[in-house]
Amino acid sequence: MALIWGGSYQSNTKKEMPIIISKDYRFLHLLRTNLKVLYSSRKRKPEDRIHVSDILSGSCLRKAFYARVVKDYDLTVEDIDNFVRGESSEYVLVGLADIGVTQKELLFEDDLIARPDLMTGSSSHKSEFQNTISTKKDNEAEIIVEFKDTKSFERLTPDNKRFKSYLRQLLYYLVISGYDTGILCIRYSNNRRLVWIKRDTKGDYFFSPKTNGQEGEESLTEIESWTVILEKGSNIRDILKEEIRTRVSLLKSALDSNSDAQLPKVAEEWKCIKCPFRQTCNPSSVISQDSEIDILDEKGLIVTIDSN
Ligand code: SF4
Repeated sequence: MALIWGGSYQSNTKKEMPIIISKDYRFLHLLRTNLKVLYSSRKRKPEDRIHVSDILSGSCLRKAFYARVVKDYDLTVEDIDNFVRGESSEYVLVGLADIGVTQKELLFEDDLIARPDLMTGSSSHKSEFQNTISTKKDNEAEIIVEFKDTKSFERLTPDNKRFKSYLRQLLYYLVISGYDTGILCIRYSNNRRLVWIKRDTKGDYFFSPKTNGQEGEESLTEIESWTVILEKGSNIRDILKEEIRTRVSLLKSALDSNSDAQLPKVAEEWKCIKCPFRQTCNPSSVISQDSEIDILDEKGLIVTIDSN
């Protein structure tokens, strides 16, 4: 194919040997099928132990129930996207963090299983890290690391609902493990600044400037990490333990009796819109609903300190 200076082609060549492009649905189908097989191989069975991610407040107990008992259901595009982003992001970040032991299996009162990532005392930056922020004084202290990947446009802070849902998972791990220090590492897949304009019944309106910030302003960070310390003697541990027990017991009884009758619907009902079990669940017919009250919203419970 002859390229004429200036970027145009000889018209006869263009007709004889064009570049042919078409959407490849077969390849997409292959990807989806294989992803579904991989996803299904990790599917939890009704008799499997409850996992921390099943009972987090903010997630739906009914959804956790159906994900185990419904034999075949269509994965949503969002399910696939979350799965791929979560897996790949964690794989890369765990490698980067040079974590000696990738996962530790922990049990809470026999019914709940947790598999947090654990940073061991083998990597060089770990002792330095412990010396500066951990309440532990010995070099063998272990730190739980929770990796999250989000499409959120805003950079999350401890007063944000989504941040608190990430934090809760890490706190559950700290409660279950008995450790006092964790790291919450958040990767942002969206790096475009959005300026909020207004909200109406259809949703929020934003403006996206061409530059990431004003001149001299820092661009948006792609990864942020937070140190979380929950002292071993803190009474917040008891409150969180009770929260875990209540939710595990609800889900376990439902699974044992193979009945969703006692399970509340999710607190934030907009989450039902994309739920793959919407038809089975029929949320408008469910009366009991999860509470939106969150202990982590209590004033003074979370204290943010400047790390510099
Ligand atoms: S439709 Fe709503 S309440 Fe029902 S399982 Fe899905 S998220 Fe939960």
